[in-house]
Amino acid sequence: MTLTLTVWPKWRIWTQDADRFFNEDRFDQICAASGIKKTVLNSASLLPIAKQIYGKKPPEKAIWTWFVAPGARNTKRHSGIQYCPTCLKTDVRPYFRLPWRFAWHTGCQVHGHALLDRCHICNAPVEYHRLQAEDVLITVCATCKSDLRAATVRSCLPDALKFQLMADDVLRNGVGPFQGSTMSITPWFELSNYFVSLIRVAQRGENEPLSEFLRLTGVQLPVSIPMQPGNHLEILQTHDRERLLAALFPMMSASKIQFDEALQKSNITKQGLAGHGLVSPAWIRTTSASLPSALREKSTRSTARLNGPRPRYQVKRMMARLQRKLDMAQR
Ligand SMILES: [Zn+2]
Ligand SMILES: [Zn+2]
Repeated sequence: MTLTLTVWPKWRIWTQDADRFFNEDRFDQICAASGIKKTVLNSASLLPIAKQIYGKKPPEKAIWTWFVAPGARNTKRHSGIQYCPTCLKTDVRPYFRLPWRFAWHTGCQVHGHALLDRCHICNAPVEYHRLQAEDVLITVCATCKSDLRAATVRSCLPDALKFQLMADDVLRNGVGPFQGSTMSITPWFELSNYFVSLIRVAQRGENEPLSEFLRLTGVQLPVSIPMQPGNHLEILQTHDRERLLAALFPMMSASKIQFDEALQKSNITKQGLAGHGLVSPAWIRTTSASLPSALREKSTRSTARLNGPRPRYQVKRMMARLQRKLDMAQR
């Protein structure tokens, strides 16, 4: 914080997501101070990747889809910075990798370990901007001063790592594989994101045909992932995201034949595939057009809901929101 205040006396960079660097004009000061070229610094920010995924400039204020959100409140974080202890251990000068901010990254490609996003001793999120010069190393926990490199490691779920490599390839190649053909970057990530949302809807356990459809495409529904509005991959902790992405991988790699069979056998409706209050990508809208409609059934159900008690998933969501607020208040 001392360093950044010297570079930008009037900008409190750590009250925002410092890696996003939305305003490229701000590079000027740090380029002058460090002698690093603007293009080099630009490639160390999340903005170029976000532009690729969005297909345009991402929103200035909102959470960026597919990027882990630090949930910044003043200079405190809710979570957000992931790391591989073994990578940090083998670094001559430890540093936090840019891909550790990608929400599709839950493992380390080099070591095969699951990434961590909290201190193994005190469970605080990584907040290196709160370190003092006396702490010397960036791998020290800002809250309890333990060394993050000493954390025990475990293997990442294989399917989560496979999805991660697949998504990395999509960005590298400019196209993503889907059902034997290809899609450009933006629709590929939109579709993956949509499928995660469907998995989240099915987790509520209220839509039998949807659960059956997912099962037939190879998805094993993960249990006990905190309920949030939407899929909110970006604010989930790494281990929860890892299980969701492991569940997603079979869907993204299923063949067209398997997919069409699953649609047919599960009796999923148009609304079951393209409803749930979600914005459906073009591919979903086209595919769902040929499915039977369940509109009449849906309208009776929603009136019943207005009069009856709130569904379990809504209560769980409210509880999760409250828990997050309490956690922040205590820190
Ligand atoms: Zn590693
Ligand atoms: Zn700690």
